[in-house]
Amino acid sequence: MLKIGLTGGIGSGKSTVCGLFAEFGVPIVDADLIARQLVAPGQPALSLIVKSFGSQMLNQDGSLNRAKLRNAVFTDADKKRELDGIMHPLVYAQIAAEVNALTAEYCVIAVPLLLESKNPYAVDRVLLIDCPVDVQIARVIARDKLTRQQVQAIIDSQMSRPERLSKAHDVIENVAGPEQLAEQVKRLHNSYILLATVRTQSA
Ligand code: ADP
Repeated sequence: MLKIGLTGGIGSGKSTVCGLFAEFGVPIVDADLIARQLVAPGQPALSLIVKSFGSQMLNQDGSLNRAKLRNAVFTDADKKRELDGIMHPLVYAQIAAEVNALTAEYCVIAVPLLLESKNPYAVDRVLLIDCPVDVQIARVIARDKLTRQQVQAIIDSQMSRPERLSKAHDVIENVAGPEQLAEQVKRLHNSYILLATVRTQSA
């Protein structure tokens, strides 16, 4: 099955674009969603996190305090590596399991940090959702009620826009309204179906 890795900076429109692919019946494997499910109470990843970071990372009800954990690793590279060491192998394994269970012509694997990784997801193509930094900032301020400085700090911690653009096979420019976005998704969907068919025939 053809595997499309969908990525982009915060607020670029990844979730919105995934929703549009899903409307065409394309299966979406979402790394963020998987990571959230993996740290649910009772899951082994949560016990490993508590072992490394202490029980102060838990809310009263035993669920993970995600904001606290995010703050703990944001400014501490060693802690970040430790958390990645716990989460990444589990996320890769779960993504592989979900992809293997699919029977579609192609699927979209949405991974915010796809380009920062060494492609353990084995995607065939990288689809970048792109928009100018100013647009990213405005969207995230509106969506997450963060300050401009907070959003800028997150953007600064991510890969730069030119570097991302240099690594993508396909790019969706998400600067205009919903109609233009839907049109771009439709075009790409058709080309991915074609590509998947050609690959199957030549296999
Ligand atoms: P990401 O998943 O990359 O962080 P989202 O898809 O959540 O980004 O989009 C960020 C915010 O911007 C959301 O509130 C979304 O509704 C909005 N948004 C996304 N694309 C557009 C667009 N083309 N026009 C207007 N708002 C958009």
